Amino acid sequence: MVKIKTKELLSRLNQKIDSVQNSDEFKKILKTLSKFHNYSYQNSILIRQQNPEATLVAGFKQWQNNFDRHVKKGEKAIAILAPFTYKKTVTEEKEVKGGIKEVEKEVKRMYFRPVYVFDVSQTEGKPLPRIDITVKDSNDKLLLPLKKFLQSKEISLEIKELKRGLKGYSKGGKIVVDKKLNDTEKAGVIVHETAHELLHDKGSRKKMSKEIKEMEAEAAAFIVMEHYGVEIKSDKYLALYKKSYDLNQSLKRISKIASEIIGFLDDYLLNKSSENKKLKEVV
Ligand SMILES: [Zn+2]
Repeated sequence: MVKIKTKELLSRLNQKIDSVQNSDEFKKILKTLSKFHNYSYQNSILIRQQNPEATLVAGFKQWQNNFDRHVKKGEKAIAILAPFTYKKTVTEEKEVKGGIKEVEKEVKRMYFRPVYVFDVSQTEGKPLPRIDITVKDSNDKLLLPLKKFLQSKEISLEIKELKRGLKGYSKGGKIVVDKKLNDTEKAGVIVHETAHELLHDKGSRKKMSKEIKEMEAEAAAFIVMEHYGVEIKSDKYLALYKKSYDLNQSLKRISKIASEIIGFLDDYLLNKSSENKKLKEVV
């Protein structure tokens, strides 16, 4: 696929994201999301290790006070580390006229202590405002060739029931997709996660911001799915992530990966249809 086409699609996507961000519906969601704490990289890892499917986490009391929800009975807490500071008085030697004097000084020290949080899936109560990003099942032919594509890249795929709100995730060599999604939606999620796998290796996953990673992966999914006439609401999804990043900066990366996937799928679908034709001719 030519780069110009990708560029055109990316700027269309950019505009769509902007208009979602300006909508009242979205502003309401932002207000809710702003009440969730941003966890450090280390804590995000701790959360992921204990609950890979966690999406929104908050403390027991915070769920009640800020979101009108409560933690369900018997749910296991996720332990993270929170910094605490305390003041301590230390003695220091200070040079003064005619010698050294001992002075007392107050210093701030920091330590970490485990605190406990819960994922939204472990809570119940007032629904959180959310944007509808469900996708119509309009093209179920992409799933099989995408599976073949993953095989060719030695990325394994697991389709299983994921918790509410989570469509899929990838973790270096493996992609997990929610079983409840329709086949068209699964295809979109697979492209998104494949883009993470191929564009964001372990090192860059650490270095790149969540904003850039999500924008690159979803833009790649948007371009691939557009090619097959499927609308996957990438604008709504990306409205949550876009701050200032200009997708055009990733044009080359997105275009390369989208072309590779589209090339593979087109080949597969074309061969498949000529095989079918041949079959029909034989019959
Ligand atoms: Zn992602």
